[in-house]
Amino acid sequence: MQSGAAVSPLAAPKGTKMVCELCQKPALLLCTGCRCAYYCCDDHQKTAWAAVHSKVCRLVGALGSARDFCTLEERRLRDETVRQQKVRIMQMSLVCGTRHIYSDRPGLTLPAAKQALAMAAEVYGAASVELVRPFLMLATACVMLGELSSAEGYLSQGEWTLIYSKSEDHALRSQLFWGWGRMLTARRDWLPAKWCFAETVHHSSEAFGPQDVRCTLGYFWLAETLLRLDKLDICASLFREIVTIWHQFFYAGSCSEEPPRRLDDTEVIEALHVLTAVRKAFSAPDSASRSQTASSRMGLHTSSGGRHQWWRNEENAACVVRLDVILNRLRNYSPGLELPQVLMR
Ligand SMILES: [Zn+2]
Ligand SMILES: [Zn+2]
Repeated sequence: MQSGAAVSPLAAPKGTKMVCELCQKPALLLCTGCRCAYYCCDDHQKTAWAAVHSKVCRLVGALGSARDFCTLEERRLRDETVRQQKVRIMQMSLVCGTRHIYSDRPGLTLPAAKQALAMAAEVYGAASVELVRPFLMLATACVMLGELSSAEGYLSQGEWTLIYSKSEDHALRSQLFWGWGRMLTARRDWLPAKWCFAETVHHSSEAFGPQDVRCTLGYFWLAETLLRLDKLDICASLFREIVTIWHQFFYAGSCSEEPPRRLDDTEVIEALHVLTAVRKAFSAPDSASRSQTASSRMGLHTSSGGRHQWWRNEENAACVVRLDVILNRLRNYSPGLELPQVLMR
């Protein structure tokens, strides 16, 4: 379905106070696909469609059309179905948001993350630990848009939610420190950023073990920050460690063996981003092309200067060979998953 195809300019019934999904202003347009989502104008409908609604319109519609119940048992079944649908919408919104982040479209991440936040609040409650991920996604998008005070607000909300829920979840703590670290890199506060990414690595190691692929995002950002602080040796060894961990993940046993667990879609996109950036750093023909290891706004613009000979050593070249095998495997990992163009090259 094309953007805008699902909408006709239906006036909201008089007396109702429907508001735009995007900006909360009074709404005049209704999505004819789900008959649940309202918008103030064409522009906002198109943005929401591209950001997340095209992926969840059908599910949102199913929520609205849940039929009446008669008995308690029917009511219980219906409530459970609705709950599952809302969880599904939340998960799909998070995947959409992640994809937009790595496609360098943070403006589209915001509606997706807000959709995820709304669903999480409805299903789990407004102070639930499930809200932390959407908050952190909102913060990341704001960092990329240069809206650092909004980012700080979302990070604080995420942190507060995590503390309030008394969650001991190291994985979430790791993500929270990662969010703060990203904000600090945007401010070019390299030393505190380094500390946050070290905490990211610490908590993900506690959660999964230091050799787990879920630690590699933290290693990557720690390495990028160390590069800024001119710690080239540690940076390169962290990059190589990332490659080793991913290689072990896919090829620990015999080549035909399946990896120990299935990656979800956001993990695949994140891994492609990290490994593509590492590959660029290791295979840059000169210092100029190494000056951008990661995609523009998502990554740091790593410092350049005639160090290319240092990067192009044998050890790093061996990593590039491994990286190509891993990248190829990741790009074909989920056949149905739309990958950001920049990660397909
Ligand atoms: Zn609007
Ligand atoms: Zn719809």
